[in-house]
Formats: sequence, structure tokens, C-alpha cells
Amino acid sequence: MIPFLDLKKINLQYKKEIEAAMARVLESGWYILGKEVEKFEEEFAAYCGTKYAIGVANGLDALTLILKAYGIGEGDEVIVPANTYIATILAVSACGANPVLVEPDINSYNLDPNKIEEKITSKTKAIMVVHLYGQAANMDPINEVAKKYNLKVIEDAAQAHGAKYKGKRVGNLGDAAGFSFYPGKNLGALGDGGAITTNDSELATKLRALRNYGSHIKYENLYKGVNSRLDELQAAILRVKLPHLDEENEQRRKIAEYYLENIKNPKITLPIVENGDRESHVWHLFVIRTESREHLQKTLEEYGVQTLIHYPIPPHKQEAYSEWNHLSYPITEKIHNEVLSLPISPIITIEEVEKIIDVVNQYKG
Ligand SMILES: *Cc1c(COP(=O)(O)O)cnc(C)c1O
Repeated sequence: MIPFLDLKKINLQYKKEIEAAMARVLESGWYILGKEVEKFEEEFAAYCGTKYAIGVANGLDALTLILKAYGIGEGDEVIVPANTYIATILAVSACGANPVLVEPDINSYNLDPNKIEEKITSKTKAIMVVHLYGQAANMDPINEVAKKYNLKVIEDAAQAHGAKYKGKRVGNLGDAAGFSFYPGKNLGALGDGGAITTNDSELATKLRALRNYGSHIKYENLYKGVNSRLDELQAAILRVKLPHLDEENEQRRKIAEYYLENIKNPKITLPIVENGDRESHVWHLFVIRTESREHLQKTLEEYGVQTLIHYPIPPHKQEAYSEWNHLSYPITEKIHNEVLSLPISPIITIEEVEKIIDVVNQYKG
């Protein structure tokens, strides 16, 4: 069986260093908000090119806390892509604001900048962009609309650690960005973790308090904060993996390029790299489309290839958002009905990829 993602193999590449990092934390006697988180924050900010990084408990909290720190809540509207993982939208709901869905571009699957303006009202406070599947969103026209209407631009960078837009890393393309270090992400911990990057010093200071009960000084509470901290152990592990992120992303690019060159089947729509900028994509997922994807998924399974669907049900058709179930977002629905994710990772071999390509090329629909 070719697994969709062999996390054990990915992490065992760094077994000795991870064990040493864990031992360092164990022996330090300090487990929450200590040197490891502080150092990781410095290293991750430097990597993204931002002034600040703030470690938090997970990606959903990262996004929610940014919105709360900007004072976005009850009665406010936030523009989000209709085609995203539900966490983007849950973050907006969690701060009490209303998510306003915008259709994606059918080729890049990312937010279509041309469809934002018509959704802006006097209540709109921010645009939350998602760099879906690892590809940077088309930021220039998005930032332009945001500037025109004085809106914050928040990046959901949970799938795109290291991707660049016109030479600049994601996390540094708007006002603030949320990252996830869930184990399966391009930069993954051995548990939950997240971070916020920003160049806004006021926001960074407020976020450091918000993640820690709203407190800068022990037992003095400025805000009604939460407990959402990246822990020392995960920070120490992430410090081992961060220096390898670029080489791992490059390996993903090579696998993706091999798929793109060799999959030749008129029944299959391949992903695109916008403007041919290979650095703009870190291939968190390699997502193809076909009209009969359940059949293709079953065929691949019969040949020993595990695939997944990202995602089977669009957010507006989820029970959690029953108030939207009657709405229609045809591009989003088409994408959700047709997508299938092929295995991609820094450790998958060319032999495995060739086997997958053979099955896909012989598929008759
Ligand atoms: C994973 C993910 C999140 C949430 O991250 P968690 O750490 O699991 O909370 C948010 N947005 C997107 C696009 C994601 O893929």
C-alpha cells in the first residue's frame, strides 16, 4: 500500500535531534512559555520575514485570536473563501462576526479577487484569504480592494508554510497571518500547535496577552483572554524541523512537477501553478479533478494507492451552517464534487509516484 502520508517516516528522519530536543525540555524543568517558544518565535518570524511571531495552541486559535485582537466581533462581517477548510470560517464564527462567502477561481481554487468588492458592505471589517493546498493567493488585487475599503487582510497560511508571492513569504503578505503546526501540515509538530505572524507591534503585544488569559503580568488581566499557548515541547520539536522546511518543500515541488509532466489523461484536470511561479506553491496537497472521482479513488485503492478528498462537503452545505444550506456556490460545489488528492510528501519515492501515475493514466473514466 502507498499511504497518503507517512508521518512516521517523515518524523523519524529527525529522530536523534527530536529526542535531544525533548530531553532538553524535560531537563529544563520549564514547560510553558519559556526559552523554546521564545526562540521558535524568533526563528519563525525570521523565516517568514516578519517582525513578530506569537506561538499559540493551534491554527484555529491563531485565526480567531487575530480577529479578536482587531476587535472584530458581533455585527461585523469578514470576507472568506467559500472554498476552504471549515476552520477558516469557524474562526470568524468564534469571534461572533458573520462570515461572508466568496467564490474561488476555478483554476487556482483560491479566492477570486474580482468577486470580493460586490460582497463588501458598511459592516465589512476584514478579508481572510486562504493559501489553499499550499499555493499563495493572488494577493496584489486583494490588498488593493482592502486598501480601498480600509479592511484588514488576514492570511490563513495553515497549508502554505514557506510559499512565496512575488518573492515574499506567506505570513508577510497582509496585516497578520495564522499558521497551524498540526502534524500533517508542511511544518508539523508531534501534536497541536500554531502561530501568528505580523509586523504590527501593537497587535503582537495584545496577542501575547490574549493567548495567556489576557495577561502580560501574572495575575493582572487586561483582557478577557484565553489559554492558547504553544508548549515548550512542541516548540523544541518545531525548532528541529524548521531548518529542513525549505528542502522538504523543494522535494514536494519535484514530486508535483513529476506528476504534472507525466499524468496524461483527458479525463483528469491537473492543478496549475499561477503565473508559472514555482516558489508560490509548496504543494501541501496535490489535488486533481475528475467527474467520477469516487470511481477513480476506488480504482487507485484497488492498485494499493491511498487517496483522500479535500474536501467532500463545502462549508455552506455543512449541518453546522444550516442557515446557508439553501444557498448555491456553483464553483465551490463543482470543486468539492470533483477533487481527489494524490499522495505527495517529502519522502514519497519516484517509484511510488510512477506507480500512481500509471494507474491514473490507464483510468478510462
Ligand atoms: C489545518 C487548517 C486550519 C486549522 O489548523 P488547526 O491547527 O488544525 O486548528 C485552518 N485553516 C486551514 C486552511 C487548515 O488547513
